[in-house]
Amino acid sequence: MTKVCQGPDCHTYMTTDRKRGMKGSKYFQTRTVGKYGYGDGSFCTTICLGDWWAKHGTRAIDHFGRLHQPIRLVPENAWVKDYNGYWGDDASTTYRFENKLTNERIPLTKAQYDDNDYTIERARQT
Ligand SMILES: [Zn+2]
Repeated sequence: MTKVCQGPDCHTYMTTDRKRGMKGSKYFQTRTVGKYGYGDGSFCTTICLGDWWAKHGTRAIDHFGRLHQPIRLVPENAWVKDYNGYWGDDASTTYRFENKLTNERIPLTKAQYDDNDYTIERARQT
């Protein structure tokens, strides 16, 4: 099923690919998202994403939870999965958890690297 752009003003951008109808009954309509959808696949362009945001963004933040304090990056939440080498070349590639603040490293197998459930907590238990 084709997804329609969620931009509230998409139909007002008078481009030829939005133009429909015969002479005398012409109109412009909202685009479909296409395969390079923006905003997690809901918008045809970043302009339409921005239009949606201008109209609904404040209510969306209040609905999902507004931050009132800055988030801090500290050693406990500074762990990321990373790798060295060429992606897909298993012989030369090494995988690790790396702490971006302390530079501590924990080696990983490729399977552990690929496993989204293999968290830093699990890596520290072994
Ligand atoms: Zn659009």
